[in-house]
Amino acid sequence: QLQKPRLILDNGLRLDGRRPDEMRPIKIELGVLKNADGSAIFEMGNTKVIAAVYGPKEMHPRHLALPDRAVLRVRYHMTPFSTDERKNPAPSRREIELSKVIREALESTILVELFPRTVIDVFMEVLQADAGTRLVSLMAASMALADAGIPMRDLIAGVAVGKADGVLVLDLNEPEDMWGEADMPVAMMPSLKQVALLQLNGNMTPQEFRQALEMAQKGIETIYNLEKEAIRSKYAELKEE
Ligand code: ADP
Repeated sequence: QLQKPRLILDNGLRLDGRRPDEMRPIKIELGVLKNADGSAIFEMGNTKVIAAVYGPKEMHPRHLALPDRAVLRVRYHMTPFSTDERKNPAPSRREIELSKVIREALESTILVELFPRTVIDVFMEVLQADAGTRLVSLMAASMALADAGIPMRDLIAGVAVGKADGVLVLDLNEPEDMWGEADMPVAMMPSLKQVALLQLNGNMTPQEFRQALEMAQKGIETIYNLEKEAIRSKYAELKEE
């Protein structure tokens, strides 16, 4: 599509029928892979990501290990079938950058100092992309780490706020990501009330920025409750077994 469509219709709703402050449906499942130490699938609307965690385990080669903490290795990757045009499976500059951004967010929550001389590997595969893949990947990783029993300061929950046709919108879809005036992914450690990731593409006034952050925080609270529920139901399942 070469021409920008209208993103907010006359009835005030978005192209997918949502209100401006409405998020897409969320689905979280833990323990979906038998060979990983921890795993999860996280879906937000049509964006779907699977994450797998290995470790903490001994670091090879040994000289890459750190004496006082675990090393985090993080890979964000989009599968060739995740986008409407086949994506080249070779890691792009964008994927290398997002791997780093996600690693830095995870480093703020994992208690790496508890596991000196080890490595923790986190792999994320985007199965289907409809905007927001960095946040859904980060949340899938957070759930997989919880599934692996790796101690963390808090879970991570995140959602993007953007601006479409001058209106602030929560949880962007692909047309809004592509044609909107702003895109601001925000991830937090909700109980600690700390920001783990915040980026902004496009432009907002300071007042819009404050309002956008408030919208994001409301969404994050909802997502955080769903994350805690997903972990609780996994443990309930284990108890029954
Ligand atoms: P995020 O996925 O975190 O929102 P971007 O802001 O870079 O990251 O948005 C990229 C979005 O563009 C993807 O979520 C996806 O919906 C869409 N897209 C389509 N084709 C591609 C591609 N080849 N590489 C990356 N993103 C693509």
